[in-house]
Amino acid sequence: MRAVQVIGYHRDLEMTEVPAPSAVDPHDVIVRIGGAGVCRTDIHILEGQWEQKSGVTLPYTIGHENAGWVHAVGSAVTNVAEGDKVIVHPLMTCGLCRACRSGDDVHCARSQFPGIDTHGGYAEYLRTTARSVVKLDDSLEPADVAALADAGLTAYHAAANAARRLRPGDRCVVIGAGGLGHIGIQVLAALTAAELVVVDRNPDAVDLGRSVGAHHGVVADGTHVAQVAELTGGEGAEVVLDFVGEGGSTREGLAMTRRAGDYHVVGYGENVDVPTIDLVSAEINIIGNLVGSYGDLCELMVLAARGKVTLHTTKYPLADFQKAIDDLDAGRVRGRAILIP
Ligand SMILES: [Zn+2]
Ligand SMILES: [Zn+2]
Repeated sequence: MRAVQVIGYHRDLEMTEVPAPSAVDPHDVIVRIGGAGVCRTDIHILEGQWEQKSGVTLPYTIGHENAGWVHAVGSAVTNVAEGDKVIVHPLMTCGLCRACRSGDDVHCARSQFPGIDTHGGYAEYLRTTARSVVKLDDSLEPADVAALADAGLTAYHAAANAARRLRPGDRCVVIGAGGLGHIGIQVLAALTAAELVVVDRNPDAVDLGRSVGAHHGVVADGTHVAQVAELTGGEGAEVVLDFVGEGGSTREGLAMTRRAGDYHVVGYGENVDVPTIDLVSAEINIIGNLVGSYGDLCELMVLAARGKVTLHTTKYPLADFQKAIDDLDAGRVRGRAILIP
């Protein structure tokens, strides 16, 4: 089969012919890829940022946002059958450790991450496990939802976590209405009756945020902390979701959080620098968010099937992988880039 592989760091991906995977373990599921999302993490992999962390052996097939059709199953698989449309949770998990048993897939003690530390989905077929596949509603197509497997799942996890404390009348600020943020806003709009405020440097992104459910839009032009204060009666928001995490957004995000409020970090890059006395006196909670569980992905697919969460995509044939990467790197992709074998 054709597969796009990392053959070295600081150099371009290459398409090559490799043996198609087959079900080795009884719980294996082989997915015929219908769409593979192109993610900024893929660019970071090529830059060598994951070299130490993943310990992957080169060459390997990249691509961690995958959906498609079940092509073959191991002898013990009962939850899906050949031909089923599925989205693939990004982690292959053991199912036996304490984290797995509590539904916390992301912290599995023995997980693999296709596309990061083993073969991924920029290919015709992907090997995963029965634990990782979520059947898609008839109304959904793999190529349209593939990027929800990672970008969407991360946004869902954070927004659903935030939504658990948001009551009608509470305020929630979303910093950053890009690929993740605009999904987060849709999730919040579906799950809460809170008043949603979107903050972004880019006026187009603010408009996008408003068009998918935010009640107020604030362009980050230097007056945005004051504008949020005015929108929240001078108190700040009960919850701030920071999808940026760099360029000063952590300081601003914390300044927008009211006493006893929650500040969620999703985007990353800079350090959070808070005087401990401020944490103590205001009882502000700082909460990290990493991808999402299998349950989160199931819930996100329910919202997608109901049309509550939609993702704008730009599709490329698998052979045009380099163009997709270049377009993403240059900021030319509207929504998410998807490769189709
Ligand atoms: Zn990703
Ligand atoms: Zn586990």
